[in-house]
Amino acid sequence: MWLRLKENHGNQVQEIEAFLAQQNLSFEKMDLAKEILYRLDLGSKSLEDLDFPASVDVLPGENPYPLVSLEAKPERTRIVCGAHEIGPQKMTLIAGPCAVETPAQIQASAALVAKAGGHILRGGVFKPRTSPYAFQGLGAEGYPLLAQAARAHGLLSVSEVMDVEQIPQAAEYIDILQIGSRNMQNYSLLKALSKVQKPVLLKRGSAATLEEFLLSAEYILSGGNESVILCERGIRTFSDHQRHTFDVAIIPELKARTHLPVFADPSHATGKASMVLPMAKAALAAGADGIMVEAHPAPEHALSDAAQSLTGEGLHKLGHELFALEGFLQS
Ligand code: PEP
Ligand code: MN
Repeated sequence: MWLRLKENHGNQVQEIEAFLAQQNLSFEKMDLAKEILYRLDLGSKSLEDLDFPASVDVLPGENPYPLVSLEAKPERTRIVCGAHEIGPQKMTLIAGPCAVETPAQIQASAALVAKAGGHILRGGVFKPRTSPYAFQGLGAEGYPLLAQAARAHGLLSVSEVMDVEQIPQAAEYIDILQIGSRNMQNYSLLKALSKVQKPVLLKRGSAATLEEFLLSAEYILSGGNESVILCERGIRTFSDHQRHTFDVAIIPELKARTHLPVFADPSHATGKASMVLPMAKAALAAGADGIMVEAHPAPEHALSDAAQSLTGEGLHKLGHELFALEGFLQS
């Protein structure tokens, strides 16, 4: 079991440690950026016999991820980002191209996203491509292009950081920093982003279990950054009718276990533009707090992920239908 002392714990540390010593309880202490955690071994004692000081949160059981767990923090996390609030009260729509390609392309994309009612403009500038010969993104010069296009259309921005050294420039321009699927278990990147004062959108690894996913989020919270958004984006299976397999069932399960916002990306999950809207609806109905999709002003000319990119019209229809479904689900 765990005990948690929140920020500004002052002399409560002495109080709790004196209590543990007096009760003869062995513990392991973790002094984190914002809190102190104690992992306790109760031995033969039972929880009911122990009258812990009121200053500590008591987390019974063998929860492996005490900071992200809903058990530890029953109110759901809301992330304030500019004028927008990410959380359970309102669906967040993120849309935009796979990659920032040119100033005109990202400006046109931003216009489509705003018209569809989206809140956040996406666009990769460092692209994790399977082939070294595929378009790798514009690099850091893409960050200001994305930021300007977002600002010009009243949107926030999100972009992936693939490497620790990309963080300072990304953080200068971009509102939300994304950890891609391939880097979900890049622990140096997770630790580095735990020290940044920006929300982090963490995508699920394509072969990651729910527990591994939540433990990666735990890394970011344990380093001091509590603004983490989880994003399901498909896993590897034997299915051959979609790019990955959209694991819609992880959405209610994540919501049952964590207070963090849960998003879904049906574009990377399915790889097919025709599947994006039905799977986005499925995700929203399953409890997702936000949806991320790829859209391009001219998908046939997209330099990456053309087959899964929605047209402006497709994105508009998606916005229209998702906001209607959101209204229905809330009624
Ligand atoms: C992306 O969202 O740009 C991306 C590369 O997705 P993923 O990391 O899920 O493959
Ligand atoms: Mn993509």
